[in-house]
Amino acid sequence: MEEKKGEYKAIIDPLDYPETLETEMLKTGKNPDYRLFKGKARAVKDQEIESGEMPKARYTSGSDGFKEYPKYHEKNKDSHSYNSSMGSTKDRGNSHSSSSQSKDDAELSKNKRKIGKEEQTEVAGAFFENKVDDNTHHLNAAGAAIDVSRRRQKTRKIPMSVRKPVSQYLAFIKSPFKNRSPLLFFPYPSYVGEKKDEFDRVFYKPQEDLGPLTMRFKISENTNIYNAMVNASKAAGMYLVGEKQMLKKKRITQGLTDSDSSDEEEDPNQNNFNLLFSGSIKDDILKTLKEYQKINHFPKSFNLGRKDAMWRNYLQVAQKYPVEYDFCPKTYIFPEDEEEFEDDRNDPDYDPEEDLKLWIFKPSASSCGKGIKIVGRDDPIGKHKRGFVISEYIANPHLIEGRKYDLRVYVLVVSYDPLIIYLYDDGLARFATEKYTLDEDEFENRFVHLTNYSVQKNADGYTQNKNRSANNLRAGKWSLKTLQKVFEDHGKDYKSVKRRMKDLIIKMIIAVEPPIVDGIEESGMTTNLCYELYGFDIIIDSNLKPWILEVNISPSFSSSSPFDKTLKTKLICDILTIVGLKPANHEKYENEQKKKLRSKVLGHSSEEKKNCSKQIEDLSSGELDEEDFNLIMDYEEQIRRVQNFELIFPVKKNFKKYMKFFAEKRYKNQLLWSHIKNPLVDLESLYM
Ligand code: ADP
Repeated sequence: MEEKKGEYKAIIDPLDYPETLETEMLKTGKNPDYRLFKGKARAVKDQEIESGEMPKARYTSGSDGFKEYPKYHEKNKDSHSYNSSMGSTKDRGNSHSSSSQSKDDAELSKNKRKIGKEEQTEVAGAFFENKVDDNTHHLNAAGAAIDVSRRRQKTRKIPMSVRKPVSQYLAFIKSPFKNRSPLLFFPYPSYVGEKKDEFDRVFYKPQEDLGPLTMRFKISENTNIYNAMVNASKAAGMYLVGEKQMLKKKRITQGLTDSDSSDEEEDPNQNNFNLLFSGSIKDDILKTLKEYQKINHFPKSFNLGRKDAMWRNYLQVAQKYPVEYDFCPKTYIFPEDEEEFEDDRNDPDYDPEEDLKLWIFKPSASSCGKGIKIVGRDDPIGKHKRGFVISEYIANPHLIEGRKYDLRVYVLVVSYDPLIIYLYDDGLARFATEKYTLDEDEFENRFVHLTNYSVQKNADGYTQNKNRSANNLRAGKWSLKTLQKVFEDHGKDYKSVKRRMKDLIIKMIIAVEPPIVDGIEESGMTTNLCYELYGFDIIIDSNLKPWILEVNISPSFSSSSPFDKTLKTKLICDILTIVGLKPANHEKYENEQKKKLRSKVLGHSSEEKKNCSKQIEDLSSGELDEEDFNLIMDYEEQIRRVQNFELIFPVKKNFKKYMKFFAEKRYKNQLLWSHIKNPLVDLESLYM
């Protein structure tokens, strides 16, 4: 393809902001506040995050020119005690009425060692880890008339962080390339105890300079509100919108009358947000979003998040490529696959003495180990039930000090078309509390066979990781970095395990790409507004082969320990910095849209229409249009904002290997891969 070098004009941004941040920054090349805050910004930010106001004297005789500010926990004693009561396992359970709590407790102690008995996870605040939306799908599919949304509302909590002040300063990252918008930078809140590397391109702006470009976030009604989420957004200077409605809803669900708040005005900015945290995408929400707004899910992502749907998608590719797709335990969806399951388990050649075969029974759209039981060859399976799967049990897990564990690996997909995948450089290893055994008497012992935190935290011997780095080897959760160290101390090759994990993550995402891209096309979205973080649950067997057990589309952001809190807050800040939020003049945008609509009515949109249906053949013409150029520049810019994540697909050395697994050749993938192979844009000429 013929190269087009540097002849593209600036991106034509529909949100052209006169006299504001962008123009000023572009004009001067340097923000006037930059010199003042570079290197000093941390102290300023900490102070205002904690107290809500700027320190009076910026410069004092302290060694770094700043005076010492009281530590977070000293300044926020009250909020801390409130916070910890919201966050602690014990107190979170108190959201139930005391009678239901004691009933739950009794139920728990009766069943807590048993797999497959009554579900026990509603006690002790397990709701915080629930995949609420998945449950909805499951229950709908199963036709059960349970009002999930009512149950969800009952347990929705407003965390302390909602009441914390917003940072009075915002940090923006300047693009390394000419004529492109700056994007919001998400520094770590002070409790993380670590400063996020600010690149050279970060500059600070006081809130009052932002005017119509004020940055806002919203948490929709169908998702949990996590401290880490709110803290990260507020530390970046974003305002929470729709908060009054949230609090009002809470009062209603608590059974309090709402007469006192009937005169409360609706938040006029409740739709003028830059960022929306939502449960999985339903209805037409994408049609209501504006070009600069970002939402944390892709449409139809249950294709990955539901155990049965994931298996179906996996199987589509595995049937074609059985050698390469051999990383999910064989799964039977009930009732459809019942016959096949019975045939397999009654295989006359099967000799249990030689090779013990077990299966694990799971509700398709559940979580937290609910309803799971292990079944052997002769164990009965309830007939004529729907909504569950049975998978082959990995009976030979790799053990550490005799205990089974699994991994929670965080994967970020910022776009499906083109497909772009990042892997987080840390995660969790979650241990069973009791030593692993295949003794039949222990099949029902959840503390031996399940590694879910929501199960294990109820075990007598469960130890929390009290330190931020999670290197307490007796604890129930480790950081992946600690796991790596333990592997290496024992002469095990963790790097090769990690390489294999990357491979199977990429393959799994490719397997669910077709229905998700269908969902995107059906939604009518023309620019990508979505990103999604996946919690992959991976188990390593005794041969150090990783297997995918399931993927969570709404991994928990609850902070059950200082380590959890730190990891998850950093994770959100790192994700949002990569995703990239543009400051936008909401009002101006609306006006632009109206104008656009008018010109469409007048018939000026033929060019736009042409762009939507681009064909692979267009690529070979060597023509890159503005949309192609922007796609490439977005990618180039994005990979320069990455911290603690690794771009795992597409990269120069791997896209060829994975090409064949894609169900369809797509224009944008081809364009990006061509660029990665041989740059289509002369970046040198576009650097600032
Ligand atoms: P849930 O969504 O309810 O957490 P999972 O699929 O994650 O269900 O299973 C819960 C736990 O059961 C896992 O964390 C793991 O310890 C164990 N488990 C699940 N599937 C298997 C399997 N096929 N082989 C071995 N252990 C499994």
